[in-house]
Amino acid sequence: MISCPNCNLTPDYLPKDKEVSYCSGCKHYIYNQLENKDVLFSHDHVGDYQYKTRKKQFKKVFDFILSKDLNYNFLEIGAGFGGYINYANKKGFNCTAIDIDDYYKNQYEESGIKFIKADANELDINIDSNVVILSHIVEHLEKPKKLLNYLINQNVDYLIIEVPSSHGMIFKLSKLFLNLNIFFIWNRLWQKNSNSPHLHYFSDESMYEMSNDCRFKIETTIGSRFATLRGSFQRTLTTENLITSLISVIVIQILELLNHLTKCPENKIYILRNLNKK
Ligand SMILES: [Zn+2]
Repeated sequence: MISCPNCNLTPDYLPKDKEVSYCSGCKHYIYNQLENKDVLFSHDHVGDYQYKTRKKQFKKVFDFILSKDLNYNFLEIGAGFGGYINYANKKGFNCTAIDIDDYYKNQYEESGIKFIKADANELDINIDSNVVILSHIVEHLEKPKKLLNYLINQNVDYLIIEVPSSHGMIFKLSKLFLNLNIFFIWNRLWQKNSNSPHLHYFSDESMYEMSNDCRFKIETTIGSRFATLRGSFQRTLTTENLITSLISVIVIQILELLNHLTKCPENKIYILRNLNKK
């Protein structure tokens, strides 16, 4: 049995899914892959419309970060098609993107972003950027703390972490279905059949435990949507038929509305300050 990566308590297997365990100490879910899968952070190459629909959220994050009086140098690790880093680049900042996959290398370099091919699980380069973005990458890491401990000893002032949250309605409903022996929604949420499954679902408590232990302090949080109408429809349509896509999009939008009303977003952005730096 593994221990919780955040608070070291022993989590319990979910009664209906022995691949997932839950730490009641910090409300954290962990996917213990029973079989080894190839690790590659696949990007669906659907960056364009996702970028457009996420602009509002990037603005909120940058409004907060840029209110600090710093000499900004941005790095996105596990950048994929580069949501945040492209936004920072357009604002004229010095930007670097790191990814395990060099699919977008040329695109980055053409737009003036430095690209480094590296695995976030095994970083060993010197990082001179002072704002590091981890967008939908931490939940894919076997040992998230290992990366945070690495970053705390670099020149990092702020970390921007975006992860899927177990507080959201889609997560809760998927778990409800799991308990009713309906597995496919739950398995899909964890992306179990992909080459980049989620290995973690964070709660506010577990994010606090992890950050605090690595000497990062959560300064603020920002809610982020699971998907916008057009984005989720186009995304679903790449793997499902028209009817399934339409139904799932409508259901997701209703749940998103509930998330909005209950202030429990499906994805959450945590902005962390390095306590080792003055
Ligand atoms: Zn825990």
